[in-house]
Amino acid sequence: MDSLIRELFTEICRIPLIDPHSHINPHRPASRSLDDILGYHYYTELAHSAGMDQHLLGGTGVSPVGAEVEPCERVRAILTHMDRFDNTTQYAWFLEIARTFLDFQGERVTAADTEALWDNAERVMSRPDWESEVLRRSNIEKVFLTNDFDDPLEGFDTNRYVPCLRTDDLVFHLDKPEVRLRLAKATGIEIGDAASLRRAIGKLFEHFTRRGAKACAISLPPDFIPRPSAESFWMLAEHCREFGLPFDLMIGVNRRVYKGGVYQGQDLFDQRTSLLQYAELFNTFPEVTFCISVLSSGQNQELVSYSWIFPNVVTNGHWWYSNIPAYIAVDLRARLQAVPKTKQIGYYSDMYKLEFGLPKFNMYRRLLSRILADDFVRPGILSETEAVELARCLLRDNVERIFRV
Ligand SMILES: [Zn+2]
Repeated sequence: MDSLIRELFTEICRIPLIDPHSHINPHRPASRSLDDILGYHYYTELAHSAGMDQHLLGGTGVSPVGAEVEPCERVRAILTHMDRFDNTTQYAWFLEIARTFLDFQGERVTAADTEALWDNAERVMSRPDWESEVLRRSNIEKVFLTNDFDDPLEGFDTNRYVPCLRTDDLVFHLDKPEVRLRLAKATGIEIGDAASLRRAIGKLFEHFTRRGAKACAISLPPDFIPRPSAESFWMLAEHCREFGLPFDLMIGVNRRVYKGGVYQGQDLFDQRTSLLQYAELFNTFPEVTFCISVLSSGQNQELVSYSWIFPNVVTNGHWWYSNIPAYIAVDLRARLQAVPKTKQIGYYSDMYKLEFGLPKFNMYRRLLSRILADDFVRPGILSETEAVELARCLLRDNVERIFRV
């Protein structure tokens, strides 16, 4: 990093973040052990794809197969295989977590560090103020959640942890008796026809918005085409319009491609997806802001073009398989060159534990600093101060305005 990039990075890190998409459990937001960190699917899937036997992960939800394994032994198994993937960005996130939060001083984490890291994690994570400390050191003010439709949304601070209505079950699993039962319990309505489904969805939106929800969200398979009908997806868009909620669409995920994969390590993207499938939706609901995430960098040009001309389409973060520096760099550069700056939600963590906010946002902030330096400040398009203001627009102001937080 040269001095201009470093200066921009330092200033950008001062912008307090609102993280507009995560999978944080608000009742248990921070990690309680190193197992919570290394149980993240990126580590289990990288270790497994590099040759680790899944049985070493144990049958505890981290992996569906195998007998119970002690958490410390699971951590040791992943660390033992880490030298096979210590070239990856996900390893770099872990190294940054170890250095920032776990007193790690070395150059490279290996299996020999298992005990020390485990003990340090136990010590710091048992502090009563650990959650607040992680948020403070990461400069994260608010975190959006991913809530099941029947979440009571009670027992946590909805100002810090902002509810978001996740609707995959309502669109793709409504034929399952257990989902209908959950919906009936949550709303008091037994659905039978379109009218009762509409009433039930209305109840959910009332409950969520009363409890401070700021978005509705769904992930969608590549062959999905929204059509005007009496089906739930279209009703969700209608309710977003009625309740003034943005609709986050995470487009292009094919579930269970690698059937023998670890927990959450089975899904892949699909090049056949086109945003053209969503044209009728975008045209029909000009009042709804659609915050679009695409799963691969290959879909970015289409997203850039849609956001360029549709007022109600905005770019949202760098999702999953496109969330690595090589793809963020080209995708971000294209967005900055072509999409109105007020229509870009820069980044979200997608994290399951708070400790990942810092390395993930830092990865994005480093790339943003470099692109602002090379494309805007050095050519004389923006001053340094103006470049930091542009970063603030992406990381803070747009999130506040679009989601009304
Ligand atoms: Zn997510």
